[in-house]
Amino acid sequence: MSSIADNIESVTRRIQKATIDAGRDAGSVKLLAVSKTRPADDISTAALAGQLAFGENYLQEALDKIGQLTDIPELEWHFIGPIQSNKTRAIAEHFSWVHSVDRLKVAQRLNDQRPDGQPPLNICLQVNIDQEPSKSGCQPEEAIALALAISELPSLRLRGLMAIPDPQQPDEERRQSFRRLADLRHAINLQLPPDLALDTLSMGMSDDLEAAIAEGATWVRVGTALFGARVKTG
Ligand SMILES: *Cc1c(COP(=O)(O)O)cnc(C)c1O
Repeated sequence: MSSIADNIESVTRRIQKATIDAGRDAGSVKLLAVSKTRPADDISTAALAGQLAFGENYLQEALDKIGQLTDIPELEWHFIGPIQSNKTRAIAEHFSWVHSVDRLKVAQRLNDQRPDGQPPLNICLQVNIDQEPSKSGCQPEEAIALALAISELPSLRLRGLMAIPDPQQPDEERRQSFRRLADLRHAINLQLPPDLALDTLSMGMSDDLEAAIAEGATWVRVGTALFGARVKTG
C-alpha cells in the first residue's frame, strides 16, 4: 500500500470535514498537492490515487518533472513560488495556474508570453497579508488597484488571492489573517464587473488548512501532509 495514497485519503477527509463544519458546499475546496523537492515518481503515485493538481515552487525543477511526466496529460501544473521576471516565459508556456503574482510587471509579461491557442492563464495575486518585511506578495493596500489592472489583461484570468500567513503567529491570529484575505477579495469584487468576480482564495497548508477553509479557502496547498517532511528547505 502506498503511503502517499493513504495521505491523500486522510487529507481529503480533513478537507471534507472542515468544509462541512464551515457550512460550505461539498467539493468547494480543492487540494493542490505541493510537490516541490519530490521526485516525479511521487507525482505519478499521487496521480494514480486520483490527485491531478500539483504545485511547484522552483521553475527548473518543475520543468524537469513536467518533462518526465508527459505520459500523464491530465496533470494540472500550478506555479506557487517567487517569480523572477526573466523566468516568466516558461511559466506562461507550461502552467495552468500561477498563485504567486505580486506585481504588475510580472502579470504583463505572463500575459504577453502566454502562447496563442492556450486558454487564459489562471492567476492569483499574492498578498503579504501580515506585512512581513522580507516576504513575497504585494502590500494589502496595493491589492485592489493591482487586481483591477491584472483583470484587464486578456491572456490572463485573475481568479483570486493567495497568501502565506506568518507561521509564527498563534492560531487565532493566523485565522484572522485568512479572514483579512477573504475580506480583501470581497472588496475587490465590489469593484469588478460580475463576470470577472474573483472565485478563488488560495490559502491554508498542512498545518492550518482547517482554519483557512473556515474562512473561505477554495484551494489548500498541501505538501508535508501528503509527501512527508521535506529534506531540502523551501
Ligand atoms: C511549501 C509550500 C506549501 C506547502 O507547505 P506544507 O506545510 O508542506 O503543506 C504551500 N504553499 C507554498 C507557497 C509553499 O511554498
